[in-house]
Parts: sequence; C-alpha cells; structure tokens
Amino acid sequence: MKCPICETPMKKEKRELQKGIFALVEVCPKCEDEWIDEKGYEALYALFTRKTFKIGGSLAIRIPKEIADVIGLKEGSDVKLAVREKKIVIEPT
Ligand SMILES: [Zn+2]
Repeated sequence: MKCPICETPMKKEKRELQKGIFALVEVCPKCEDEWIDEKGYEALYALFTRKTFKIGGSLAIRIPKEIADVIGLKEGSDVKLAVREKKIVIEPT
C-alpha cells in the first residue's frame, strides 16, 4: 500500500492504539502518518464482542475498560441511552 498523501510505500507496524489494544497500522516513513488497515479495525471490533446477561427484567452488558476509558466512563457515571439506526448509543452526560 502507498501513502494516500505522498505515495511513498508504507511500512506495516503493530501499534498499541489504547492500552492493551493492538492493531496493525501502516505508517508512512515520509509524513509519519498512520493508517489502520481494514483488517486492523475488524480485529478491534471482534475484541469487543460481548454477551448480554439478565439483571432482573433488564439486560446488561459488560463494557470493557478500554472502551469506557475512551469516553471517560467510570462506575456510577450517568449516561444517556439512545437508539440510532438499530444501534444503541451510550453517551456520558
Ligand atoms: Zn506520506
């Protein structure tokens, strides 16, 4: 793959995106920009496949710490839940 900006051939490197989350990224040696290939993203999504479980009449999901950290979610945080295009959006208030 070539850099989309300067067309220099890119080097593949394994990078830590967040603590404990690794993805294969392509790095341009010239502009030092990182590009994550699609397979890297797939691996990232697969890492966060979770099963729902029941608490009373509700369904619960464990939110991995890595995901919670990205949006600054902590125990006891208030969140807004919404449904958008058949996906659940969790937003800290
Ligand atoms: Zn470049």
